[in-house]
Amino acid sequence: MKVLGCKDVGVECDFVAKGKTVDDVLKKTAAHAKTHHGIKRLTKDYLDSWKKRVHNE
Ligand SMILES: [Zn+2]
Repeated sequence: MKVLGCKDVGVECDFVAKGKTVDDVLKKTAAHAKTHHGIKRLTKDYLDSWKKRVHNE
């Protein structure tokens, strides 16, 4: 399983996205960031920095 949590990117939040692929995890993280953290525009910078922190569980 690929995993990325808000804490992994320095945000105080218990959300953890899990998925079979990195893209899967990024998609879930993007949806969460939009609804819970008010990030309206997902720039490439966001996605790149998240991608780097996705790890295996
Ligand atoms: Zn969060």
